[in-house]
Amino acid sequence: MNVNVVIVGHVDHGKSTLIGRLLYDSESVTEGRVEEIQKLAEEYKKRFEFAYFIDSFDDELKEERTIDTTGVMFKGQKNLYAITDVPGHKEFIKNMLTGASHADVAVLVVAADEGIREQTGRHAFLIHMLGIKQLSVLVNKMDLVDYRQEVFESTKGGVSKLLSSFGYSGTEFVPASAMEGDNIYKTSPRMKWYQGPTLIQVLDRVQVGKELRPPRFVVQDTYSVDSQRLVVGRVESGTLRPGDDVVFQPSGVMGKIKDMKVFGGELEKAEQGDSVGIVIDKQVNRGDVCGLLEAPPVPTTEFLGEAVLLEKNLRKGDRLELRCGTARVGCQVKEIREKINSETGEVVERQPAQIGENDAATIVFSAEPLVVEKFSEIPELGRFVLVKDRNIGAGVVLETGK
Ligand code: GDP
Repeated sequence: MNVNVVIVGHVDHGKSTLIGRLLYDSESVTEGRVEEIQKLAEEYKKRFEFAYFIDSFDDELKEERTIDTTGVMFKGQKNLYAITDVPGHKEFIKNMLTGASHADVAVLVVAADEGIREQTGRHAFLIHMLGIKQLSVLVNKMDLVDYRQEVFESTKGGVSKLLSSFGYSGTEFVPASAMEGDNIYKTSPRMKWYQGPTLIQVLDRVQVGKELRPPRFVVQDTYSVDSQRLVVGRVESGTLRPGDDVVFQPSGVMGKIKDMKVFGGELEKAEQGDSVGIVIDKQVNRGDVCGLLEAPPVPTTEFLGEAVLLEKNLRKGDRLELRCGTARVGCQVKEIREKINSETGEVVERQPAQIGENDAATIVFSAEPLVVEKFSEIPELGRFVLVKDRNIGAGVVLETGK
């Protein structure tokens, strides 16, 4: 099984060292690659700056849909792992928009001698916002604290508390030294008090697989070809077939899929990730979302989201543009419920009048009718971008309403 891993944590807590260790111990390093890997590790480190998000980068977005892996792989007993690109601040927004970097699992590195630091919380927040549900914690640099159990337990206590505020529970914690190789691949003889799995054993337990989800097809464009109407778009979830009875929302148009086309041929079915043309006798619009009549997409004019603001301010009553899938609609900030500290996940203020740069908040948006889905259910339609002249923030949908 192929698993995409992202490694996060405060600067200098040992991410690059861990990558080196994973590659080394899994014997994935060949002579010629040592230098390449060192360079990559440096690069990886730079990306971790929680730098500000500058300008728009719409150009970069376009049809960019490939998974960004760094090209570095290591093996477990069961799985083959690819290290995915890190969600730096800018990358984070890009990822939210394109769903590009899909890590299946995250490893949060916390140095035992320092404990929780600023980026520990910020990265946990990003991981949570990206919808990565499987997270494990490596308590690193145990050699610097004489491999003492009390230090591990107290770090674990603090980090568990932090993670629970982001909705993580039952997280596995591994005491380790990336430098010495303790509990990464090899069980450490220096921490006999620890009976749990090594990091690679934790990773090997990860379950990845597509959940069965209702089909959603996002409309990009419509064409007339040989007196047939072709609706072009992308399947963001599930599977669609010719003969399916479908509905497009918010247009409310119902119909039957007559045929499905791709460049150069016809299709028997279209699955998640496929860009296809659907032949149907109806007029629909860009921004519409199509689903089965029996499990239809529901248009909404109000929803609860969690957003992070990258620049400017946002006040109750502000009007801006909201982008979700191919939909572009006007929206209004109806209520700012809670301002959230993006380092700790704590609610710092209820019903604030406004939020500013780098603030996160739960916000009720009212909008022109569109289809959004809960991020936890269909992430591709559960992330949105806020635009005021340019992209100023992004978020995920927590609850759909009305
Ligand atoms: P990053 O910024 O998170 O990628 O951290 P690095 O991997 O560059 O590590 C930062 C410093 O901590 C380097 O000097 C490493 O040699 C050191 N380091 C990393 N892991 C360990 C460890 O397990 N034990 C000790 N003693 N030092 C470590």
